[in-house]
Amino acid sequence: MEQIIKTTPMNLPGAVQGLSVLIAGPCSAENEEQTIETAKELAAVGVEVFRAGIWKPRTRPGSFEGVGSVGFQWLKRVKEETGMMTAVEVANAHHVYEALKFGTDILWVGARTTANPFTVQEIADALKGVDIPVFIKNPVNPDLDLWIGALERINRAGVEKLGAIHRGFSSNSFSDYRNQPFWEIPLMLKKRLPDLTLINDPSHISGRRDLVSKVALKAVNLGFNGLIIESHNNPDAALSDGAQQLRPADLKTLIDRIRGIISSEPFDERPENLDAMRTHIDICDHELLLALNNRMKLSEKIGKYKRANRMNIVQPGRWSDLLSKRLEEARALGLREEFIEYLFNCIHKESASIQDNNV
Ligand code: PEP
Ligand code: MN
Repeated sequence: MEQIIKTTPMNLPGAVQGLSVLIAGPCSAENEEQTIETAKELAAVGVEVFRAGIWKPRTRPGSFEGVGSVGFQWLKRVKEETGMMTAVEVANAHHVYEALKFGTDILWVGARTTANPFTVQEIADALKGVDIPVFIKNPVNPDLDLWIGALERINRAGVEKLGAIHRGFSSNSFSDYRNQPFWEIPLMLKKRLPDLTLINDPSHISGRRDLVSKVALKAVNLGFNGLIIESHNNPDAALSDGAQQLRPADLKTLIDRIRGIISSEPFDERPENLDAMRTHIDICDHELLLALNNRMKLSEKIGKYKRANRMNIVQPGRWSDLLSKRLEEARALGLREEFIEYLFNCIHKESASIQDNNV
């Protein structure tokens, strides 16, 4: 099924030159003082879009689950006293109505919510006819179609200022990261939807303060359109995600490093792009594997057909036609013929052996 997603630019203020989005703020609005103090410190380092969770999706019950609607009074003060825009997470229709009622400027859908199409649809229905920027975080599981499906649902409700947030994927394997980045997934999303604003959340990928800069810089080098970063005036005392939140002063250091990268060289010529190019190679390899997998599955089907019709597995005429067609295509693309002949001999051998073992 073809997906059609129509987006318009968000035109958010205050991003570092070269990035179209920069959002920062605490994981949660905890109390009035922490919210206002963090916002003032962030405004002082040039942040113009403030995030704060009002309702928190926690893994275990009994953890701090957010302050609820009272937090909107504090966000209102943030707007009045700093001029920043405000962004909150919505996880159901009630959250949407409350956020809109209190004049929230930007909404995002969290990773656990994106994984549930019923809830995403409920949020989409609550957003019908509302012109507000909405970001959709990737689902907790590495499923690109589920992510696109959530974007489509919100887009079909009429939301065109639409963006995606890459926050990494849950995994049981041991890793330095709290959530595995699987960079090829957001990059495939960008390839399929080039006009979509794609930003990175290095905080939830890292889970650790000392990794946040590395992840953020990698995202910038890969051409992401922006960042959403958790920052708290006193991270060690935070009621959620304390280990991954940066002090506003450390966020400033990171912003300055990002400015350095962006203003030094055009994107394609940046030396750091060795890393970006390697990630793109990973994506190409992944696509090669997908194509090989499709091809072998087709071979298996053809094998069954040959068996049913008592045909020989290897048909020399077909093989020589196929190879000369591939070599002609390779010549047109500028690929070395010896290499392509070698490659297709291997592929043909594997195909024949799959067909031979067919039952
Ligand atoms: C958050 O942004 O604080 C949050 C809960 O994120 P995620 O949905 O990525 O877990
Ligand atoms: Mn958080």
